Amino acid sequence: MAANEPGQPPLRVTGADFTSELVTPASALAIGAHPDDVEFGCGGLLAKWAAAGCVVHHLVCTDGAKGTWDVEADTVALARRRQEEQREAASRLAGPNAGEVRFLGHVDGELSSSLEVRSQVAQVIRELRPDVVLGHDPWKRYRLHPDHRHAGLLACDSIVAARDPHFDRDHGIPHHRPAALLLFEADEPDHVEDVTGFVETKLHALEAHVSQFESTMHATDDHGLETFRNRIRDRLADLGVPFDLDAAELFKLIDDL
Ligand SMILES: [Zn+2]
Repeated sequence: MAANEPGQPPLRVTGADFTSELVTPASALAIGAHPDDVEFGCGGLLAKWAAAGCVVHHLVCTDGAKGTWDVEADTVALARRRQEEQREAASRLAGPNAGEVRFLGHVDGELSSSLEVRSQVAQVIRELRPDVVLGHDPWKRYRLHPDHRHAGLLACDSIVAARDPHFDRDHGIPHHRPAALLLFEADEPDHVEDVTGFVETKLHALEAHVSQFESTMHATDDHGLETFRNRIRDRLADLGVPFDLDAAELFKLIDDL
């Protein structure tokens, strides 16, 4: 779940002091705690960039094995299934510009922003060399799920480690400094992206996460799925109103990396 997702409190945005529309990067890396977080948080923007030629990579930090309400679930099978769903979602979002989909495989619910995991994320950044990194805002107030906090911290901390040549020298590959970091679910958003025309692509990608229909999308039948779609459509439309856009996703932009 993420904050471009409906159900979040209304954002107090006025349209003033926002930057907008980054130049389409050659490549982007979206870092999520669980399969589906990235589609919720920035699926519209990733679809837009991919349509304009950007290669879109994904990094999922946990195995997503707790993403079910079924107490009898085979969680090993669920983790495997969620990897397949994430690959399908990445393909639906970016089409021919879908890049790599990496999984760190940490236990769902037990993600840590430790030095060890930071190094793993930094290595992925150095290997994939994205122009833009996207991740959860770790400073979103009153967020309960620890994985989202830790995944956000990992995105931020790993950029520092990846860009500085003396961090994690054991990687044995050149350092890499992305040009920008965009935080989704932003506590204090200051950047808007027009996603008009890409909402349905975002929904199509979200709907690749079939295992999450019940627990996350609250969609156990066609009617429930359409209700979910309309919540997302309404949410992105609402976010666009202050900016005179039909649909928008909002971010905290950090471009002094
Ligand atoms: Zn999540």
